[in-house]
Amino acid sequence: MSDSDKTLGTKQRIVVLGTGWGAVPLLKHIDTSKYEVICVSPRNYFLMTPLLPSVSVGTVETRTVIESVRSLIGPRVKYIEAHCVNIDPKAKVITCNTDGDSNVSRGDDVKAILPISKREGGASSRIIKDSARTRPQFDMKYDILVVAIGSENNTFNTPGVEEHAHFLKELLDARRIRSAISDAFESAMTPTQTVEEKKRLLHFVVVGGGPTGVEFAAELADLVREDLQHYFPRLVANDVKITLIEALDHVLSMMDKKISDYTERHFRRENIEVLMNTFVKEVKQREVVVQYKGSTELKSIPCSMVVWATGIKARPLTNRIREIIGLNIQSNRMGLLTDRYLRVKGVDDGSIFAIGDCATIQPAKLADRIEALFEEADTQNRGALDIQQFRTLVEKKVAEYPQLEVFSKKIEDAFAEVDKNKSGYLTLSTLRSILEKADQKIRALPATAQVASQEGRYVAKLLNQASNVHSTDFQQQNLTPFQYKHMGSLAYVGGDEAVVDFTGSKPLLDYFDLKPLSGRSAVYLWKSFYFTEMFTGRTKTLLAFDWVRTHIFGRDISRY
Ligand code: FAD
Ligand code: NAD
Repeated sequence: MSDSDKTLGTKQRIVVLGTGWGAVPLLKHIDTSKYEVICVSPRNYFLMTPLLPSVSVGTVETRTVIESVRSLIGPRVKYIEAHCVNIDPKAKVITCNTDGDSNVSRGDDVKAILPISKREGGASSRIIKDSARTRPQFDMKYDILVVAIGSENNTFNTPGVEEHAHFLKELLDARRIRSAISDAFESAMTPTQTVEEKKRLLHFVVVGGGPTGVEFAAELADLVREDLQHYFPRLVANDVKITLIEALDHVLSMMDKKISDYTERHFRRENIEVLMNTFVKEVKQREVVVQYKGSTELKSIPCSMVVWATGIKARPLTNRIREIIGLNIQSNRMGLLTDRYLRVKGVDDGSIFAIGDCATIQPAKLADRIEALFEEADTQNRGALDIQQFRTLVEKKVAEYPQLEVFSKKIEDAFAEVDKNKSGYLTLSTLRSILEKADQKIRALPATAQVASQEGRYVAKLLNQASNVHSTDFQQQNLTPFQYKHMGSLAYVGGDEAVVDFTGSKPLLDYFDLKPLSGRSAVYLWKSFYFTEMFTGRTKTLLAFDWVRTHIFGRDISRY
């Protein structure tokens, strides 16, 4: 009898989609004496994404950053390796198969690995037909579904990216990059290469000055300076170039301006060229085509490896769910809208939760609160308020509602827009239209591991406490809504230096006067933070060994 035919047992069944930063903390904390818990994900391991840039250059080895999901959750939770491809919220059934929508989400897709091993020659060039892979499509019933399927790379439909650029999101991406760097150096050593071709082969381009692009460029510069310089001294002295291209006027734009400035200065010292106000329009096999801000001209930059790190978008399944429950799917960056208990909006019985990169907490809550403030301040019920007076009131309330602080920049933008009218007064209808516009721009919380893991832990606690999970009124059950605690943002910038930004980190700033940190001291914080975040003693030990090994013996630069 297949799972689809089974009726649900006496315990309510929770099906969790994903084995990432959102799903694993949930699976670890859910009470399995109360629920039957099944996890469905195409990736049978948890991936420590913050260390992926280190893996892509060999500072840290691949097995160090993954942990088998079975060893993390144990036999108390059933794990099935498959993609969920469809959901029927009315029948409460999911449909799963082995191939899924996308070839990147499984991370170690066999089809995707073969081209690497095929190139090696000898025995490994044989393609072995996979006799163990006979997994039919199946349906599965659920009482509660938790969607924690993350996101995928956003190419913004830029021509050539899918064909010619590397992403850095999954373990296989990091392995491919490591192999491509080695390829470029070995190709440049071929005796017949021209000077121009050598320079092209050793020009590495990183597109996107967000944390992924910055951390990868930093690790690559470390590899060149600490290891490749030793093996290829002439090439490194004459031909190697790393360029980071960013469309905005500074890198790490989500961090404090001092941190962006520091990183840009530091990158100059590390021989990383940063092209700001430069937009990549196309990626070709041997070049990227860019456009500088304010110019209509296009320029070609010859290069070999391109790493594309311009942000994320919703996975096809996320869009499909939005379509099924009748939400607008025009913006592919938006995830599943949830209420403050992280239940997906539009699912009337509250049976679907969404956490992590695929979720967006309903931003209208912010609008509700600001509107409530307006009404509270408008004691004479005239429907208009003095802008300055209202702004002061919002500032005061920020202390009470930490979420408002996260959005304070957006609120400021909204007020700036009101000020354009120069009337000095704010009407409720103007406020509403401005908040509506601002809301659409807000992704309520950043797409980070920090948010996903807090959400995962919260949903486990909520479901453990709830007496009736299908009650639409969790408030009546005295269950508290999710509240995010931002503990600061960290990024590695190379040369054994890191940057740390505590902006918005209310719990810490309440007790300490923390300023943005950069340099060597920050790298100790960065290292100790990620060391403690490693889920198990095994991976902690491997990480410590890798750091010591790299320090003493350098990185392994062979291609495999
Ligand atoms: P993920 O961790 O991506 O997990 C998604 C899971 O869903 C995976 O197991 C996937 O296989 C599975 N899945 C996909 N499709 C399906 C499907 N159809 N059915 C079932 N399962 C499916 N954040 C930080 O806070 N700090 C950092 O230093 C940091 N560094 C980063 C470095 C890099 C290189 C990258 C790429 C990201 C980094 N992030 C960092 C961001 C962080 O990794 C993400 O925000 C986080 O992984 C989101 O967690 P998630 O659970 O939503 O998704
Ligand atoms: P991002 O969205 O943070 O940054 C992408 C950058 O690419 C932006 O600055 C954007 O202006 C630029 N860009 C977009 N299109 C471009 C183009 N055509 N040409 C040139 N530049 C272009 O993306 P990310 O760095 O991949 O991060 C994704 C998510 O993961 C974010 O939420 C981030 O916070 C998180 N993350 C966090 C860390 C950390 O905390 N250390 C590390 C990696 C990722």
